[in-house]
Amino acid sequence: MKLSDSINKVRGVGVKKAAAFARLGIQTVYDLLTYYPRAYEDQSRVTPIAQLRAGERATVLAVIQRVTERQARRRGFTVLTALLGDETGYAQAVWFNQRFLKTKLREGRRILLTGKADYAYNGGGQLALTNITSFELLGAEEDAGEHLGILPVYAATEGLTQKQLRAMMEYVLLQTVDELEENLPQRVREEYRLIGRRSAFRHIHFPKEEEELRTARRRLAFEELYLIQCGLLALKKRTAEEQEGIAHDPNGALVERVRAALPFALTDDQEKVWAEITCDMESLLPMRRLVQGDVGSGKTAIALLALVKTVESGHQGAMMAPTEILARQHYDYLRELLTPLGVRVGFLSGRLTKKERTAMDAALAAHEVDIAVGTHALIQDHVAFAALGLVVTDEQHRFGVAQRAELEKKSERTPDVLVMTATPIPRTMTLTVYGDLDVSRIEHLPPGRQPIRTFLRDETARAKIYAFVRREIESGRQAYVVCPLIEASEETDLPSAEAVYEELAHGIFRGIPCGLLHGRMKSAEKEAVMDDFYANRVKLLVSTTVIEVGVNVPNASILVVEHAERFGLSQLHQLRGRVGRGAHASYCILIAGRSAASQERLQVIEQTSDGFRLAEEDLHLRGPGQFFGAMQHGLGDLKIADVLADMDLLLLARRAALATMDDPAALSFVLPTLMRQYRERFEHMREV
Ligand code: ADP
Ligand code: MG
Repeated sequence: MKLSDSINKVRGVGVKKAAAFARLGIQTVYDLLTYYPRAYEDQSRVTPIAQLRAGERATVLAVIQRVTERQARRRGFTVLTALLGDETGYAQAVWFNQRFLKTKLREGRRILLTGKADYAYNGGGQLALTNITSFELLGAEEDAGEHLGILPVYAATEGLTQKQLRAMMEYVLLQTVDELEENLPQRVREEYRLIGRRSAFRHIHFPKEEEELRTARRRLAFEELYLIQCGLLALKKRTAEEQEGIAHDPNGALVERVRAALPFALTDDQEKVWAEITCDMESLLPMRRLVQGDVGSGKTAIALLALVKTVESGHQGAMMAPTEILARQHYDYLRELLTPLGVRVGFLSGRLTKKERTAMDAALAAHEVDIAVGTHALIQDHVAFAALGLVVTDEQHRFGVAQRAELEKKSERTPDVLVMTATPIPRTMTLTVYGDLDVSRIEHLPPGRQPIRTFLRDETARAKIYAFVRREIESGRQAYVVCPLIEASEETDLPSAEAVYEELAHGIFRGIPCGLLHGRMKSAEKEAVMDDFYANRVKLLVSTTVIEVGVNVPNASILVVEHAERFGLSQLHQLRGRVGRGAHASYCILIAGRSAASQERLQVIEQTSDGFRLAEEDLHLRGPGQFFGAMQHGLGDLKIADVLADMDLLLLARRAALATMDDPAALSFVLPTLMRQYRERFEHMREV
């Protein structure tokens, strides 16, 4: 049997079982081997009956004394009870709805059984073992030791029982373990004290003791993280070696004039990041840098300087935003600031007329535009820049990796790339997801920010909340009301943004100009509403999460979120960043259902304004799958490592991978594995 064989080559796997395996994502023998247990059951020790404790799981070795079956009051519901005895006492074993066992459980037979001890029903204080996960009938002389160990517990599915999974795993391991090749360089294994791959596979499925399990898990999780890191680093190295970048000139008069034109001085954090970018851009190696900073931390100013730097060096800059609204906002900002300094800023979006479009294309190709701001339209095929020097993408996770690559292909020399993100990706995650990018962080917000006061309330407070919002608006402020997005297919009694808008605009906010913004509106309509909100003609904006990212209206001081329980914490944090951008005291009011669970979860956001903390919390609550999913990245499907629990291991793996890059022998040893095992990821990542 080969690792690459289809799962139906395994004895006992027919069409039905193969279908069940497919549901678990298992197509090949190797897939089965890497279908790691989701838990283990410690059955390595026999507990004398007298030492059983109610509420605890245990394994007993006993003799069957008597078997009885009774019909529960509910029809078709049977209870099978066996009285068990060992030298220390008696206990019951109870099965529900398993009548077929009756013929097997003969009096006088020895049985080894694992279950949870509890007081027996009507048992006068006697203990009963229920939730029986495994039992074995033993011959009179048979040694129980052979059946003891730590049992794997797999995520089973219909048509594949735990028992069958265990049996097949055992069989497949036996047949193929010799085929499993070592894929970590000897040096790495020695340095990090990792056990061999074959032992690791045997022990991860069938450990005899805790220690075996621990070392197996450590080895396999390390392997997984190490190979990903090697992949990312190899990619980075390739970019550096094979692609010729642009060496930008040192910062000159133009950069200085723009800095002077900013209405503020850069913070220390911004200065630090700007120095890192300056250094990258002046180097011939293509820059691949991620700037991470909480909402409102001042990333736009940094992007602005970088764009001006490329212009001063005689190149063109491109700045992409995920939505038309944001692209517009950036365009207006750049144009206002840069036009007086002679920098030509252009705008490109799918909404331009054909004529405008052609004119803009021509201007870019003739280098009559220095900086182009736009949406996805910027990367469409026929847009050709004369001398693209820098690409800035805002909120990169909304762009596919491939789209970023498209833009990079727009010039002969690889332009520098700067990625801005306000998504507070936890540190561990940054290494796993963006291991190929250099990361800069803006840790602190600019000074003089009004803190945003956050309140969590339930529906009973709604009238009061809106009365407060009305008073704020009457004193000159603006407000957002955000509603969850409701899929048409969803059966729910949640009101849509439209319904909330109707209710508010004609109810409590009668006489106040209100606007509505949601994803299904035409771009022109959306833009008109946003323009009105920017210009303070609309005072209250009811919207879905389309306003989530980057929108900057300093006069807006209140954000109300309806059905806040429907949002992730990070998402709420992003939303909250829409207010507190000006000089006014700002408020974020979350209205959530009264369920204890949602209240508890949301209390975290009431208490902290630390985006990283909230992201970690999200990660704990919703799992990395969700988190990665949101980032549309292919690296999320870790099979054994856990980005949170294995933080230390990840750092070791990263260190090992860095060393491997400088060790030709080790590198050539891992490359084939890397290519084979991560082909899909790699192919996808090659485009970066
Ligand atoms: P981000 O893009 O990181 O969310 P922005 O760049 O939009 O943040 O900045 C948020 C607000 O802070 C803007 O109004 C900007 O003018 C202001 N700002 C940026 N840097 C500073 C600074 N160093 N000092 C004071 N205000 C700043
Ligand atoms: Mg921004």
